[in-house]
Amino acid sequence: MKYASVIVDVPAKQTDRAFDYKIPEEWQELLIPGMRVIVPFGPRKVQGFVIETKDQSDWNRLKPIAEIVDLTPCLTPELLELGQWLTEKTLCFKISAFQAMLPAAMKAKYEKGLRLLTDDLKNLTEILQPYFQKNDQVKLTDIEQTVPLRIIQKEIEKSYLEVIYNVKQKTNKKTVKVIKRNQSILQLTELFKQFPANARKQLDIINYFISNQINEIPLHDLLIEANSSYASVKALIKKEIFVEEIKEVYRDPYQDRDFKKTNALLLNNEQQQAIAPILDSIRETFHDVFLLYGVTGSGKTEIYLQSIEEVIRKGKEAIVLVPEISLTPQMVNRFKGRFGAKVAVLHSGLSSGEKYDEWRKIQRKEVQVVVGARSAIFAPFENLGMIIIDEEHESSYKQEENPRYHARDVAIYRAQIHKCPVVLGSATPTLESFARSKKDVYKLLSLKERVNKRSMPRVDIIDMREELRSGNRTMFSNVLIEKLTERLEKGEQSVLLLNKRGYSSFVMCRDCGFVIQCPHCDISLTYHRHGQQLKCHYCGHEEQMPNVCPECQSEHIRFFGTGTQRVEEELVKVLPQSRIIRMDVDTTGMKGSHEKLLTKFGQKEADILLGTQMIAKGLDFPDVTLVGVLTADTMLNLPDFRASEKTFQLLTQVSGRAGRHELPGEVIIQTYAPEHYSIQLASHYDYDLFFEREMQLRKNHAYPPYYYLALLTVSHPEITKVVSVTEKIVQFLRWNVENETKILGPVACPIPRIKDRYRYQCMVKYKREKNLNETLRKIMEHFQPEINSEDLTIAIDLSPNTMM
Ligand code: ADP
Ligand code: ZN
Ligand code: ZN
Repeated sequence: MKYASVIVDVPAKQTDRAFDYKIPEEWQELLIPGMRVIVPFGPRKVQGFVIETKDQSDWNRLKPIAEIVDLTPCLTPELLELGQWLTEKTLCFKISAFQAMLPAAMKAKYEKGLRLLTDDLKNLTEILQPYFQKNDQVKLTDIEQTVPLRIIQKEIEKSYLEVIYNVKQKTNKKTVKVIKRNQSILQLTELFKQFPANARKQLDIINYFISNQINEIPLHDLLIEANSSYASVKALIKKEIFVEEIKEVYRDPYQDRDFKKTNALLLNNEQQQAIAPILDSIRETFHDVFLLYGVTGSGKTEIYLQSIEEVIRKGKEAIVLVPEISLTPQMVNRFKGRFGAKVAVLHSGLSSGEKYDEWRKIQRKEVQVVVGARSAIFAPFENLGMIIIDEEHESSYKQEENPRYHARDVAIYRAQIHKCPVVLGSATPTLESFARSKKDVYKLLSLKERVNKRSMPRVDIIDMREELRSGNRTMFSNVLIEKLTERLEKGEQSVLLLNKRGYSSFVMCRDCGFVIQCPHCDISLTYHRHGQQLKCHYCGHEEQMPNVCPECQSEHIRFFGTGTQRVEEELVKVLPQSRIIRMDVDTTGMKGSHEKLLTKFGQKEADILLGTQMIAKGLDFPDVTLVGVLTADTMLNLPDFRASEKTFQLLTQVSGRAGRHELPGEVIIQTYAPEHYSIQLASHYDYDLFFEREMQLRKNHAYPPYYYLALLTVSHPEITKVVSVTEKIVQFLRWNVENETKILGPVACPIPRIKDRYRYQCMVKYKREKNLNETLRKIMEHFQPEINSEDLTIAIDLSPNTMM
């Protein structure tokens, strides 16, 4: 092929199409779609994806491709296709769709350069002239050491220079030098006899190969094991007895752990009934979506494992999605224990190099199973036999930046192509999925009982208003303290959940009520005890905690709200004898620390595990008999139509952490809204009734699953601009949608300003809207000039999870 169509790495409306390039003669055989290339684009060089190769182009005077990045395509034909689909579904740029499918380590890095624009070098300031004598492009890093940026800036203003970005190539592959023998063992043995006896070190090396009967060994190991020097190795290479090669190695984050091999368990009746249709679908190669609805401990994971076994038996591959925070070592062990080295793991705890290595194993077909968080849905398998989404209700399956996709939609799309099943598992399915299963769009598979027949732990709701009335001003109810003490005495363990979502520690003046806010965002700053800092979680602004109120100079300024740190301090006061492990973003920031803390807790080095949402899932410790929820209702006040659903899910989830084994469990839920139906029904594990109640509300308020949503968020530094643009959008939408479609707005966003930009939104609620995407595209096109030149942004989310 002579020409290639390339999607270039310039995410903008004008460049959101394929550009044609000439393929240089020597690469015409080699280049195929799905490979990355480096191409000239204007004055600079950028990375791009080849989506097509062809013998003719409608364009003439095409530039040639500058470099090939991959020798194996990093996107399969299916993924190229999927990228197009994502673009249409989420209204993102093509380049963003392709990039979302690759591990972060493969994103192109760009290097800033300067390019000469004037023909006469003398126009430039003298000190810059030498740099451009031979070249009209120079790396910025070469200049900025000696020339002040301000001088460069002046030249740019005068249009003598411009800033350009060039791709910076970097290799991600980790490699080692290996030493390989160039002769047979027999030949080596002969050689050994004839070798001059004074070349002791060299003899040691030869002997090492003979006595261990090996073909090759990493240089590093050889030097240690044969106690030799690189000089001696080199001498042998010079004599052509050995050769040196560079080999790719994987950084395997799990290599030094050994996994106990597990075997398939004999399934109970319920499990057998649930797995049968899944196995049928795998064996007979047809697509279906199953909703595996089963309480925690009902044996869902065992069903996943045995279904995957069938997939592997058929010579196919499986993707297992697990929410980021449930990707605990325990979870990984279950898959590695069953399938060993056939499993790759992708999650954010890995360094980008490790993630890349795991991804390479998939690409090279060295594994058949990938267990990972959201983006693992793009694993480049070509022979998919099943996709599993565990805890399908988790909101982290939706990506909150471009492309704003939901992993469930991608899973179903891919599974249709591969004619294979999708299994959605949950104890508390989303309303959308459960409604679909009631309409038989998804096939419902239920597991009603726990495998060990244990009933779910008993749940008590404690009204914290009562506690306050009776004079208890602490954040722990009397019952909770009693139960915690009991556990301490019996040597059992407890888990305490601080529901922190929608809740943070802010600083307020007790005299005048002034709350310290971020100067750039309309949101209060969060207090961090470490260094007495106040931080904005939206823009990163930091300032020192003031000693007096900036408004009224009162000294009674202090922080409110409950951080885990604060809870820990209070807890130590009430239960001084208890050993506590705290898990939150502060204590788990370091790589591997999450795992370490859990291991410590598992080894009973602590009595109480205190943490945020991250402790609600996946943990399975036999001696945990008490779960306490400190404040169950914090989420209910958020401007989020899923608030009740999320509260119900979280409470059910965390209750499942207690009494999973021999010892019976107990749950204490503290709340200021004890009568709220999501709390009441969660305490009875009554999903079915919750589903009915919540569906009724969604219907009344025209929310999903009765209506689809689209959310448009407009932002700009000037409020008048934001309002007028949003108004125009609303008007345009009104003209272009069906009668029964509802358009809400313009209204200010719940956080009306972030990073000095005002934010307005409008929401579309619709049932059928064939041309919505077309209409939204038109809106984007209409405002394109202002987006390009006036710093206007319009974000479109076609399945918004939050309204923030
Ligand atoms: P879930 O994923 O629904 O929470 P799991 O698959 O983790 O449930 O099962 C809970 C516990 O029961 C696990 O320890 C698992 O090993 C065990 N288990 C599952 N199925 C069986 C079975 N058929 N026989 C015996 N034990 C089982
Ligand atoms: Zn004040
Ligand atoms: Zn801010």
